[in-house]
Amino acid sequence: MKTVEIICRNCGADTLLQREAIYDEFTKTGEKLCCAACGFEYATEEEVPYKKKSAEPVIFTEADRSAKVEVFDGDENAALCRYCANYLVNPFTQFCSLHKKEVQATDTCGQFEKAEEKEIADDLL
Ligand SMILES: [Zn+2]
Repeated sequence: MKTVEIICRNCGADTLLQREAIYDEFTKTGEKLCCAACGFEYATEEEVPYKKKSAEPVIFTEADRSAKVEVFDGDENAALCRYCANYLVNPFTQFCSLHKKEVQATDTCGQFEKAEEKEIADDLL
């Protein structure tokens, strides 16, 4: 008897397939394919919900996709002038202390430096 990992279609368990040979006298006439968890019998090999064939490729693609999206989103937010250490804001203007010019909070530039949360610390003092 061999066992293979399946996700049972009947009970939903992440379990093993039990494969038992069926004998007529001493001649092997077929195989019985059953869920090890609930005993549900699969009529044919094609009906067996093997775990590896279907589950693995899906897990890999989803992981790749979400990782890329997270990095992209993070970069876009982080590089805005309003999050930059060189960004100064007062009631009249928003100013980049690195480029000595007026900027918008939503501007971005290649010399972005992530600001520490200084404003909060100053307020506490
Ligand atoms: Zn089952």
